[in-house]
Amino acid sequence: MNTITRFAPSPTGRLHVGNIRTALHNWLLARKASGRFLLRIDDTDAERSREEYVEAIRADLDWLGLTPDGEERQSARMALYEEAFDRLRAEGRIYPAYETQQELELKRKIQLGRGLPPIYDRAALQLTDEERAAKEAEGIAPHWRFKLDHDEPIAWDDGVRGAQKFDPAQLSDPVISRADGSWLYMLPSCVDDIAMGVTDVLRGEDHVSNTAVQIQMFTALGAAPPRFAHEALLVGKEGKLSKRLGSLGCDAFRERGVEPEALVALLARLGTSQPVEPIAAREMIVNTFDLSTFGRAPAKFDDAELDRVNAAIVHQLDYAHVAGRLPRGMDEAAWHAIRPNLEKVGEASEWWRIVTGPIDQLEFSEDDRAYLAQAAETLAWSDNPWGDLTAALKASTGRKGKALFLPLRQALTGMNHGPDMGELLPLIGEQAARERLRDAAKA
Ligand code: GLU
Repeated sequence: MNTITRFAPSPTGRLHVGNIRTALHNWLLARKASGRFLLRIDDTDAERSREEYVEAIRADLDWLGLTPDGEERQSARMALYEEAFDRLRAEGRIYPAYETQQELELKRKIQLGRGLPPIYDRAALQLTDEERAAKEAEGIAPHWRFKLDHDEPIAWDDGVRGAQKFDPAQLSDPVISRADGSWLYMLPSCVDDIAMGVTDVLRGEDHVSNTAVQIQMFTALGAAPPRFAHEALLVGKEGKLSKRLGSLGCDAFRERGVEPEALVALLARLGTSQPVEPIAAREMIVNTFDLSTFGRAPAKFDDAELDRVNAAIVHQLDYAHVAGRLPRGMDEAAWHAIRPNLEKVGEASEWWRIVTGPIDQLEFSEDDRAYLAQAAETLAWSDNPWGDLTAALKASTGRKGKALFLPLRQALTGMNHGPDMGELLPLIGEQAARERLRDAAKA
């Protein structure tokens, strides 16, 4: 069976880092098995769903390189849900209930007060036809619940959590549609997973009890449930699901100079037993993805770790990959010279300004000024002007190490550190280099 996974966000906001992680893992699971990764827009909530978020979700997945192999929208599939509803209702698996929110809340309070779990008491199942008719005559429209089968425990072998078992009697019959006819997430999701041939549902562990319920729905709809895996949630460094993390999305990362490759490399491994490594090559991340390495403890997201991975990824990026984001005139040789000094691609322009000049000269001692004047005269152009210059100055002045190299770097760049001078000097060029050495000698 060809693996089919799906990412099913509700377009009620932008994707945050936790959603991005779920999308990535579903993409990886599909890619690793040469399967398909689908995007399902869960927009049954017409009030809260917005088209701009649908577009933002697509754009974010595109930026991350997680392009779906297909897209479905729940709002276009309502007829399928109605059909499933009618079928389950005819089979007695769906029943109407009339309690208001306040009544349900009160029941829960009483149960909790008695030390009982707050499970729906199925009072609606006891209503007679007359009682139901009376409610409706009063203008009370029912909401609908799925009747769980209490006969057998619900069990599955979870791809992350291992063997799972639930007693259905300990679960409330879930509400599947509201009195106003709108759908809750549970049933439409199963209908779609069946229709779309989804083989693997990988999502956050906050969905574990939903899975227990949905397994019964799949069975009631006459389908074999897919494989399920629930990953531990993503938390901040301090161990909590912070507000900041919940609003941290692709825009914020992009503005901060985070490469999608860095985010992918980090999120692919965070919370697994495999080390986080700055892997820029996507196939390598795909090939090493393995659900069995996922741990049960929350995955800790640390910005400093992301920045470290990002810098290491930037050092590997090809010129072609970044050319569009580099300052005009900065060519491949310049990128290669400057790349090792960057934490973010955007910083390349600062170094390029140093190459193209003008630069601010530092102050030099009298001794160094004489040395730099000599350097200006010694400078000769070749394939390796830096090597030639420093070799000649070493021989003529007896200087070595820092005394030999640092004043030259300072005079040529105005900086105490930076890219390899052997690569930088040819970019600065002979004339500008000689002028900078002379200026420094005068300062
Ligand atoms: N729309 C649901 C959510 O965002 C989908 C959950 C699922 O993957 O089944 O929580």
